Amino acid sequence: MGHVVVPDGHPDLLETAERRWAAIADARPDLAPAVALQRRLLGLMLDLATTIAARGLPRLSLPPKYLAAKLARGVPVFAGEPIPLPVPVLGSTLRAMCDALADGGAGEAATHIREAVDNGSMEVGSLLAASLKRDQAAIRVGATHRGLAPDLVWLVAELAVGPFLHLVQRGLFDRAEREALRTALDEWARGYCPACGSWPAVAEVVAGHRTLRCSFCAGAWELPTYACIYCDERGEPFVTAAPNEERKDRRVELCSTCGGYLKTIDLDELSPFPLLAISDIETTDLDVAAMEHGYGRPALKDFSVKG
Ligand SMILES: [Zn+2]
Ligand SMILES: [Zn+2]
Repeated sequence: MGHVVVPDGHPDLLETAERRWAAIADARPDLAPAVALQRRLLGLMLDLATTIAARGLPRLSLPPKYLAAKLARGVPVFAGEPIPLPVPVLGSTLRAMCDALADGGAGEAATHIREAVDNGSMEVGSLLAASLKRDQAAIRVGATHRGLAPDLVWLVAELAVGPFLHLVQRGLFDRAEREALRTALDEWARGYCPACGSWPAVAEVVAGHRTLRCSFCAGAWELPTYACIYCDERGEPFVTAAPNEERKDRRVELCSTCGGYLKTIDLDELSPFPLLAISDIETTDLDVAAMEHGYGRPALKDFSVKG
């Protein structure tokens, strides 16, 4: 239980992605434009990950025992830690992502973000740092002040920082041979990511194992109990339903105690980075079904006090 290692260096990553995209376009022709945009964004994320890996990751002085103590208090390891960001590299990917989003349906709203970054009215280093800190309020205020679409600013920063944080997370967790951190990760039993504190995008179920997948850093972890990931409800108010009778492999966990929902999808293997985004787009109808019934996803947790 706890942290799950998703194998790196998938032998046929792009073939797998293309196969999954083809299946989506087949089942949902209306999603073709979204798939085309995702193909372009995923290409940028892969290029970024290659660039970051070649440059090397920052050296973090985070002693395993210190991190284990944080995890034991329910605080994700990166919360409140200063992690140096490779701003020029991430900034140029962020600009390219604005262009992709502009072409892919976001139009001028995305172009305006790129312009604000280019002319310096929005400082890209601050934006990326706020995204890393998961500071939704700061990004919202900064965007609104500049007449930019807050949700799109949040998204584009998240897309640029996510691949970096993914690599930092893997560097720390997958090689956590040191006893203290390994044990604390194995014991992690919260619904939010032990690395960055974000909620999962989906739960991927492989061979009966329900693995939560972080929407930001693609982290993977399994819980010891089958309960609402947001409020731990495990009684009658917590139900799992398949909105489409024909597709029992795609379900949604609903909790009437807290009003939260979580999408779950059966797969042959856990999605390697950055293919998790495909599981998310594959299940957009589940988001719609859950929201139509009044369920939602809670706000990000704030660790700024406890961290
Ligand atoms: Zn995470
Ligand atoms: Zn709940």
